[in-house]
Amino acid sequence: MKFSVLGTKAGGPPILGHNFSATVLWINHGYILFDCGEGTQYRLLELGISFNSCRVICISHFHGDHLWGLMPLLSACCSMQRKSPLTIIAPQGIRLFVEQSASLSGMTFPFPIEFVELRPGFEGTAAVFTGYEVMANMLDHRLDSFGFRIDFPLHYNVDMKKLEQYGIEQGAVIGELKNVGHIRHPMTDDVIYLDEVLAHPPSRESFVYCGDTRPCSAEIDLAHNATVLVHEATFLHQDEKAAYEKYHTTARQAAEMALQAEVSQLWITHISNRYPETTALLDEARSIFPQTFIAQALRIVEL
Ligand SMILES: [Zn+2]
Ligand SMILES: [Zn+2]
Repeated sequence: MKFSVLGTKAGGPPILGHNFSATVLWINHGYILFDCGEGTQYRLLELGISFNSCRVICISHFHGDHLWGLMPLLSACCSMQRKSPLTIIAPQGIRLFVEQSASLSGMTFPFPIEFVELRPGFEGTAAVFTGYEVMANMLDHRLDSFGFRIDFPLHYNVDMKKLEQYGIEQGAVIGELKNVGHIRHPMTDDVIYLDEVLAHPPSRESFVYCGDTRPCSAEIDLAHNATVLVHEATFLHQDEKAAYEKYHTTARQAAEMALQAEVSQLWITHISNRYPETTALLDEARSIFPQTFIAQALRIVEL
């Protein structure tokens, strides 16, 4: 799994060197973008990845710090004569927003856009693509806000030593073994099954992105057993009242969500401008959930 949080700043006035919400998750032949705050197109340029290899854009909700970069990014795709289809998954109203913005600014799309509009209260499978699917659950924010989950296909790790015990010393058969589920021994014609030579039981990696929300059971359900949970932690717990009033999460609450959802790693982001130093947020979350990391803009994480 490979991802990068492009912007770690909560809403509010812009600050030089701090970027609004956007996260990239690499998939086969491209990437998924979660949220598209102002300036996201420049962050993608800094990361050195093509606008045109973006396959899916998931917008959690319509607050500007998650949305205002969308039209400039679509405009950039037009300028680059993108041809490949794009899917946009977002709360109900996204089609109107995009089509009216495009119409008013004289923009015509040279590529097809499929809109998946999530109605209030939606939970379940939002879209299915080759090799992965996107789940969405509505969370608890001032506007309708959705968390997203990507489940990757089962991961099979073949143990070469086990394969050698069958007298096969080269890895060239591994592709066939994984695709077909078995191979025939080249000398004896015996059948060797995949599950007989696995290093460990097959595992599935999952990535979960929760934008703005109060802590809620819907996100625990969504993030259950995920490999990575990227979650907002706008406030320190000493400012819990502000977090509640603004429908946000504290670092401690994000860690409690991660603990209850039994995820492997928590990455916190969307930090309020009131904390120029983020160490306290990380320490607070780690005291509850040790496998917490603080997202650093444009850092590429590979697991
Ligand atoms: Zn926000
Ligand atoms: Zn918001």
